[in-house]
Formats: sequence, structure tokens, C-alpha cells
Amino acid sequence: MTFEDLRIVPPILKALAAQGYTKPTPIQAQSIPILLRGKDLLGCAQTGTGKTAAFSIPVLQNIYLDQQNAPQKGARKIKALIVTPTRELAIQIGENFTAYARYTNIRNTVIFGGVKQGNQTQALRKGVDVLVATPGRLLDLMQQGFISLKHIEYFILDEADHMLDMGFIHDIRKLIAKIPEKRQSLFFSATMPPSIITLSQKILGEYESVTIKPEQATAERVEQGVFFVSKPDKRKLLVHLLNEKPIQSVLVFSRTKFGADKIVKMLQKSKIKAEAIHGNKSQGARQRTLKDFKNGKVNVLIATDIAARGIDVDELSLVINYDLPNVSETYVHRIGRTGRASASGTALSFCDIEERPYLRDIEKLIKQSLPIIGDHPFVQEYDESSPRKKASKPQNSRNNRNNRNSRSGGGGNKGKGNSNGRKSRSGFGKKKSS
Ligand code: AMP
Repeated sequence: MTFEDLRIVPPILKALAAQGYTKPTPIQAQSIPILLRGKDLLGCAQTGTGKTAAFSIPVLQNIYLDQQNAPQKGARKIKALIVTPTRELAIQIGENFTAYARYTNIRNTVIFGGVKQGNQTQALRKGVDVLVATPGRLLDLMQQGFISLKHIEYFILDEADHMLDMGFIHDIRKLIAKIPEKRQSLFFSATMPPSIITLSQKILGEYESVTIKPEQATAERVEQGVFFVSKPDKRKLLVHLLNEKPIQSVLVFSRTKFGADKIVKMLQKSKIKAEAIHGNKSQGARQRTLKDFKNGKVNVLIATDIAARGIDVDELSLVINYDLPNVSETYVHRIGRTGRASASGTALSFCDIEERPYLRDIEKLIKQSLPIIGDHPFVQEYDESSPRKKASKPQNSRNNRNNRNSRSGGGGNKGKGNSNGRKSRSGFGKKKSS
């Protein structure tokens, strides 16, 4: 399957070639024909699958063909609206639209909160065909009369599950009331709990659905592993890993903003240059940090889940889950940051005793056991039969490696060597001196 097979028009084909895309990803191959036929779409897919191009390409193509058939006179009117939960993601989507529309006359702009509105209103005044927005700023500028949604023909709600998590449901309802009923609607979410299905029914007309299962997206591309380590030892393990093998770009996930800042300070003490990105940082600071990370000035970025939504770094080779997420889907989102559509990557997780239930939930969701990486100096012993009891730190990690059997009914496996081949497949965590 090629983009030519999907009947993409020459100017967009040329732009895709310039981006280095040789063939459509599964979500693109499935969604583009549906969208070019003008149908509504319910897409169950996570970031990293090529979902942005899956909706941007057909929307651009439809607008392009409309322009060819009936060239517009007068000021541009907003024809496509993409609503997305975070500023980073909005910026990312805007960049993708710009790249794919490079050889057309279609213009986009991006609006989001946390910055002054002057530049955004100026861009809107000049006229755009495609608007990418976060909900709050969008409603604000609509109220001020800078934006009219009267001419919207394409409405895309991206990352709907995060939109609800972030409390945007009322804003979304307000928006839907302002968009013409006659439109093509696209609804994307990585997960489909009942609240999301209900919301999708409010937005979509007659629709077709496309599901790219998270386990497909992750298991196939991302090499994964888990370190059993106590909470206090996580710091040492992180420094150990980062010192052992300098890595181009590492994204470390922390569950909290406070935790993210603590990790940065701790790394800085160990002379490892790191920056944090989270909601307490100003938009300017977040963008600067992202830029430094993308151009390699900073190799280690510590992020909270929400702030990481829009991070799109092609060469991101390693994701570290410093804390395991308590929602399994979040794990899939996180590891989707590496192993992007065209690349493969590695995702390593630090798991303390308290987090073992989260690990079990994650493994259930992705339908595979994470290989245990035992070759590191901070292995935390764990006896399944008395899960609250922490063993003291092993003197020799090789002899004390934890074993998957201890979790699968073996009743603990303290002190036994791990001969089941569950070694680091990533090359991390190998003790230099052993
Ligand atoms: P997304 O899921 O939209 O965040 O896309 C993930 C990454 O895949 C982005 O860096 C895109 O530039 C890239 N990408 C999207 N479609 C393709 C494709 N057909 N071939 C190669 N890379 C792609």
C-alpha cells in the first residue's frame, strides 16, 4: 500500500515524500479512504501511530479539492477545526498541517492559552483555513469575536479521553453547539470508556470506526523491560543507567510535578543535565525546554503525563517510567513516545513493591509480560507470599535477581539465580564490574 494507492493528490504526495514518509501507517491506510469518502470517523488510537497524518491528510485533500472546484473569493473562512487538550499537542498538530500543506495554498494557525493572545488574533485576522485549538482559548477568542465557527465543514476532536480527564467536557459541549450540523466529524481517543462513547455519539453522525490496538502499536515496536527497585533506590538506578550508557534523548516520566522537579535536582547534583516539563512551568519555559531537548542541548527530559502529550521527537530512543502509572492506558501512551511510526525504541520501567499491582494491570492490557531486568545493583527482593515485606538490599544483584516465577504462583524465589533468560534485551543495566 502506498499513498498513491490511497489517491492522495500530487501536492500532498510531494509534501509526504519531503517528510520522508514512504508508506501509510495502519491507521492511515484504514482511515484515509473513509475520510475521503466524506464519512464520519471514530478512531481508537494512541499518539505515535501516525494518527495526526491520518486525519490531516484527508482533511487537507478535501479542502484542496473544494478550492480547485470553487475558488473562494474574499477572506478565508475557517473550514476545519481541530480541538486538542494540550498546547504542546496543538503546536505539534499545527506543524504537521503546515508540513503536509506545504505545496498547497491552505493555511493553518494554532491557538492555546497561557500566552498573550496578540499574535494569535493577528494570525486569525489574516485568515486561515484550518484552526488547531485548545478548548479554553478557543471559547475565549470566540466570545471576543475573533473566531466564527459558522463555516466549519470538518471538526476533529483529538485525544478525547484526555479532554475529559482534564475537565473539558463543558467546553466541548459549548463548542458542539456552535458548529454547523452539516459537517464531517472525526473523533479520536486512545481509550473508549462509556463516557467517551457517549460523547462520541453527540458528535458523530453516521460513522465508521478504526481501531489500532495499543498492544499492536507498542508490542511491535517498543522494546520493554522492568526493573524491580525500591522507591529510595530509584534515584540511584536512574543515575546508574544514565551514566552507564550516554543516550541521545531520554524522556523520564514522573507521576507528579513535584517529583519531576526533584528528579531534575537530583540529576543535576550528579552532573547530569536535565530539565523538567510540567504544568507549573510557563508556556515559554516549556517551549524553550522542548526546543533544547529536540536540538540535543538537553538529553534528559523529565515530564508529567499531561505535559508530555505533545512531545514529538523522532530520535527519542528511550522512555523511562520512573513511576509506574496507575492507569494502564497511560503506560501505553508513555511508551508510544518512543518507537514512533518509523522508528523503534526502548521503554524501561522502575517498579517498587507498591507498584506491582499497576504492573500486573499493564501486562494484562498489553497482553505480555514485561521482561525483568535483573542485572543492576539495586534489585529489590520481593516475596509474593508476603507482599508488604521488603527484603534488604541484595549484596550481589546477579545472585538475587528476582524471577518472574515469584509472581506466577511460585511463592517467592528469594536468592535463586535467574536462569530463565529474562535478561535485559536493551543492553541497559549490565554491571560493568561483574
Ligand atoms: P502521531 O501518531 O500523529 O503523533 O505520529 C507519530 C510520528 O510518526 C510523527 O513523528 C510523524 O511525523 C510520523 N509519521 C506519521 N505518518 C508516518 C508515515 N506514514 N511514515 C513515517 N512516519 C510517519
